[in-house]
Amino acid sequence: MSGGTTIAPGDRIGFIGLGNMGAPMVARLVSDGFTVIGFDQNAAASSELDAMANFLRATSLTEACQGVRAVILMLPNSAIVTSVLRDGPLFALADKGTLILDMSSSQPNSTVELSREAVTHGLKMVDAPVSGGVPAARDGSLTIMVGGPDSWFDEASRLLSRIGTNVVHAGEAGAGHALKAINNFLSASTLLASSEALVVGTKFGLKPQVMMDAVNVSSGRSWSSLTKWPRYIFPRKFASGFLMSLLIKDTRIAVELAHQLDIKIPYAERTLELWEQAMGEFPQDADHTDIHRFVERHSGYESPKVEKSESPQ
Ligand code: NAD
Repeated sequence: MSGGTTIAPGDRIGFIGLGNMGAPMVARLVSDGFTVIGFDQNAAASSELDAMANFLRATSLTEACQGVRAVILMLPNSAIVTSVLRDGPLFALADKGTLILDMSSSQPNSTVELSREAVTHGLKMVDAPVSGGVPAARDGSLTIMVGGPDSWFDEASRLLSRIGTNVVHAGEAGAGHALKAINNFLSASTLLASSEALVVGTKFGLKPQVMMDAVNVSSGRSWSSLTKWPRYIFPRKFASGFLMSLLIKDTRIAVELAHQLDIKIPYAERTLELWEQAMGEFPQDADHTDIHRFVERHSGYESPKVEKSESPQ
């Protein structure tokens, strides 16, 4: 199926899933002149959007997926994406030619299947998961990893450039979701490792701020040490807006992908085990940065609170 003209401000967009990430993404689109018809199964989700010009809250999935150029899904996982598409049934409700963008972090194999199924309904589907978290969703600096044919990527490019700064065309259907899972395995790994590093360093007597300043200009730096230490861990806020359960889901997707490809990745498997153990000890709504508290608990040492960080936020 060929692509249509580029989706641009003035066009109507359906948006399903107005949670921690969906709400700031919608806010960016409406402020750019897109009209967004948003739907969430929780009618009270992100009520701050209701005051925004160009935002309309749908009371049903049908309202959000008809008469629109594209429908964006920003949902917790593949099972929910699949149920919205098949049982919603968005596939049957949407107008022919509509572009569906699954921006959730979903399973690549499921995405390959759903993308094929979309075509049988006269629809186009790309995967376009994001990296960067809630602050990057607010300021439009997300990285977006897109899977799908060139013409559909081009059709979505103007829309996506409003949401993300780095829009990467990863390959065909499922490639975006595979890349995102691999990225988040790395993220889960560096956060866990950097928490252990912090515990060792502070127990030795190093100041957390000194460790951060040195590590962040050295080979050990990571997104975790650059942003998560100063924003959430040093001030002991543990409230990034990204649930531990979601990061575990992503890490599990990466490990399952390896197994489907008949590849052994023992380090990733051990990383996943530790995160799953942490999930067993924390409440369901635990933030992913709570992994630091898990590391402290099992190390037998709790780092002191750092009141103020001098790193850029
Ligand atoms: P969230 O739980 O805050 O939001 C999900 C929203 O989907 C909720 O408002 C929920 O009510 C809604 N929803 C669930 N089932 C629904 C259905 N059947 N129909 C309509 N609405 C439904 O999650 P989030 O943090 O916004 O994450 C969304 C996706 O983005 C996930 O796949 C996550 O892995 C990914 N992600 C999150 C972050 C982050 O920092 N939070 C960063 C990158 C990627």
